[in-house]
Amino acid sequence: MGRDQANRVQGVMADPATPLSLGEIVENGLCIGCGLCPSLAGPGAVEMVMTPEGRLRPLVRQTLDRPTLTRINAVCPGTRIAGPDQAQTNTAAVQDTVWGPAERLVLGHAVDPDVRFQASSGGVLTALGQFLLDSDRVSFVLHVAASRSAPMRSEQRLSFDAASVLEGAGSRYGPVAPLADFGEILDRGQPFALIAKPCDITAVRNLARLDPRVDDLMRYALAFVCGGASDLSKSEQVLQRFGLGEDELALFRYRGHGNPGLNRAETRDGRAFELTYRQLWEDEDKWMIQPRCKICPDAIGQVADIVASDAWLNGGPAVDDEALNGIIVRTRRGLELFDAAVAAGALAIKRETSFAELGELQSHQVRKRRAVWARLKGIEMAGKPVPAVIDLALEDCALQNSLAENLAEGRGARDRARRGRLGEPPPVPRSEAGAAMLKDGLI
Ligand SMILES: Cc1cc2nc3c(=O)[nH]c(=O)nc-3n(C[C@H](O)[C@H](O)[C@H](O)COP(=O)(O)OP(=O)(O)OC[C@H]3O[C@@H](n4cnc5c(N)ncnc54)[C@H](O)[C@@H]3O)c2cc1C
Ligand code: SF4
Ligand code: SF4
Repeated sequence: MGRDQANRVQGVMADPATPLSLGEIVENGLCIGCGLCPSLAGPGAVEMVMTPEGRLRPLVRQTLDRPTLTRINAVCPGTRIAGPDQAQTNTAAVQDTVWGPAERLVLGHAVDPDVRFQASSGGVLTALGQFLLDSDRVSFVLHVAASRSAPMRSEQRLSFDAASVLEGAGSRYGPVAPLADFGEILDRGQPFALIAKPCDITAVRNLARLDPRVDDLMRYALAFVCGGASDLSKSEQVLQRFGLGEDELALFRYRGHGNPGLNRAETRDGRAFELTYRQLWEDEDKWMIQPRCKICPDAIGQVADIVASDAWLNGGPAVDDEALNGIIVRTRRGLELFDAAVAAGALAIKRETSFAELGELQSHQVRKRRAVWARLKGIEMAGKPVPAVIDLALEDCALQNSLAENLAEGRGARDRARRGRLGEPPPVPRSEAGAAMLKDGLI
């Protein structure tokens, strides 16, 4: 394979003759729990379960035949990760090896002060979701929100009005399956927008190659720049710190109500507990980021129409930073939406920005983009499967590293993969795991 081709396609293309089973996808640390595969497997065949580790994973209840597994491998964001469709950008769009394409790069925020306050950073994603509904561009917005019955858990939300979009404002760091029942969402036959993680959008873009309804109905895909989704166990640690049980909770907010705002838990009997963003994330050993995130080739949402990021101009998150987003408008469709939202007074621009400034504000994303090529090579050397990564310039990103840095990344990943540190146990629902331990006299 020549360098151009190697740069286009990284990893082993899923071989239709020998697709990975769902167990192999999960146990090799490739699943992020997006929730899409049950829709492809047919009724009752695959169920998303919460594992003892605090991850949402697909559990196979009925044997899947090879054609079904081939479809799942073609769609799963753990097995196929493709870059942006160049037909969606203008020829005048700027392009960066690390950051991908952009029609427009600005710092900005929602105009509505309630949105700005309640949202995660500057409220751009919420304001865009609301504008899409208010301007009748879509019938609903598919995103996520805190569960009303178990507020530390996050769940899929279909919002048909601006108030419901606002209810989902804020970052939900734990596991969530935004694409659960996605077949039923398409069956509605209504135009919609998706606000989600870059990997969720990758999954839907993959599905568009098999199901023409996706491009017909999903009018906009909006993402945030993503540092990784944590296990539910991370949130459970917070509860332990507060001395609370999950059943006592009336509210669990990771951030928002300020930028970044406080991590706040409220109990049904009126007590409140808070941590600052820095306290929540002070110990990197306790981030509990899911394995798939460590090899994420597109955590910066190259496949979205618009991507929003944090933009802490003071050098890092303070409790009361200015409400602000970095905004990367990626496609022509995104540009038309962005301009219309600004003209309608839903979004305000603070000033233009650049890839160089984004790189300073998001240095961890730049490091990851440069590291992933070598990490995948290391995992392959350990004999483990890696996703097919297409048109994401991973090799060019790695060339921005020194040879020593690439060797260190590759060897580190190889050794961790050999020791099973990048994999996961077979998926088991928490309740069944608990029952088995009870039977074995372990609890
Ligand atoms: C897991 C995670 C990791 C992140 N890492 C980074 C990072 O490294 N760098 C960075 O700049 N920003 C990161 N962010 C994004 C940042 O916190 C903001 O979400 C982003 O700046 C958009 O801000 P906003 O004010 O426009 O969002 P809001 O207006 O508050 O809207 C956020 C939207 O995202 C949706 N959402 C929230 N959590 C999830 C989830 N887990 N899965 C799917 N959809 C979700 C909500 O439904 C809502 O519609 C991360 C967010 C999350 C959830
Ligand atoms: S990432 Fe999504 S599609 Fe892939 S195995 Fe996990 S839940 Fe299924
Ligand atoms: S880092 Fe990548 S795989 Fe992990 S949640 Fe974010 S977009 Fe998904």
